[in-house]
Order: sequence, then structure tokens, then C-alpha cells
Amino acid sequence: MTLKKTILGLTLAVIGFSGLSQAQAKSPYPYSLKNYDKPSKGCYPVSRVSLTEARDIIRLQKLKLVGAGPIETRTLGAALTWMHYLNGDEPLRSATWKRRDPYQIRIVSGNGSSGQRWDHILIRRNGHKQHGESVAQHVHELAHLIGNNGSYQLYRNHMKGYGYCLVSGYSDNRFNEQFAEVFTAFVTEPALLTKNSSTPKACKRAFDFFESWFDAGNRVQECL
Ligand SMILES: [Zn+2]
Repeated sequence: MTLKKTILGLTLAVIGFSGLSQAQAKSPYPYSLKNYDKPSKGCYPVSRVSLTEARDIIRLQKLKLVGAGPIETRTLGAALTWMHYLNGDEPLRSATWKRRDPYQIRIVSGNGSSGQRWDHILIRRNGHKQHGESVAQHVHELAHLIGNNGSYQLYRNHMKGYGYCLVSGYSDNRFNEQFAEVFTAFVTEPALLTKNSSTPKACKRAFDFFESWFDAGNRVQECL
């Protein structure tokens, strides 16, 4: 067990032991998942995806990556490889843009917010943080595209009466960010949902949603 895991485990144990209500519960991660080692690496190692394989799967998903270096390209490649695996080796139908393909993901230097715009995703590197090299960052922004294509509403209906599943402080009070972060947790560090001591019932419910949302969602077990 790594030191980070131990610290996270202890944090979760303390929160679980104190029996906090949802209003008081703390998320396992204080900031968004892209900032942490495990979700940044994701379930499928970037080292296993060649640049050519990455370019192929990006094209298959009808995305166009603009301004990215080789590692950033392979990072998106690793994110998509795992998501397609969870989806029964098929592209994600709802991560496409209806207007015109391909949908652009633009990576730029400099600081500021990243986000999903109506016609593209913008990812800022933010200096040493190098967010373009975080699997969680790519998955998070794709989750907004997926949410806007109908899944926000499906998730909202499924979670009615359960409240939020807290995985990061970034998602504890905004619905769209909640969807994006929980989606990212399922794809990059699913134990955040199955072993969540902050809001265990809501996170189990969220886990069930994404397990059936993906065509082969039970493959998530290989990352648990
Ligand atoms: Zn977001």
C-alpha cells in the first residue's frame, strides 16, 4: 500500500467513524480528481498506448486533438482505450457532437479554467500541473459532453432522493460537476464509489448507474 493510499484510507476511516451527515460530510479529495495521482493515471496505463494507437482511437471516437504533445495525445488515448473497453470495445455514442464531426479538444498553455464549450473542449495545462497529461482531466471534460447529450437527466432521475455522491470538493455543490466528477471516478478510480465512507449509499447508487450506463460496465471490476 502506498503512502497516499494509506492517507486516503485513514481519511475515509475518520470520516466514516465520525458518522457525518451529507451536509457535513467531506469529500475524499478536497480538489477535483485531475489533481491527484491515482485518477490522473487512470485504470489503463498511458505507457501501454503508442502514439499511433492513441491517434487511431481518437479518430475512432470522432474527436480531433489540437495543440497536444505526444504524452498528452497518449493520455487521451489511454482514457479512450479504457472507456471503450468498459463500453464493450465500442466508441461512446454519446461522446460525439451532433452538429459536425470531429469534435475538437484543444490543449493550450497558460493558467485558467478548463471546460467543455458547446463546440469544443478546452484544456489548459496550468504550468507544472500539466493537466493535459491527466487522464482524469480528459475524462472529466468528456463527461460534460456526455452529460449534455442526455446523460445529466438520466443520472438526475436515477439519483433522486439519494443526494450527492461525494468524491471531490469540486463536485459537492454543483450538479453538472457532480456528474462529471462521479463519471471520472468510475472511469479512473472506481473505489472512490465502492469504498466511499462520506456518502456510501449515494455512491453505491451512482456506481450502479455507471455500471449499466456502459455496455460492459462490469469490466470496471478489473480496476477495483
Ligand atoms: Zn467540469
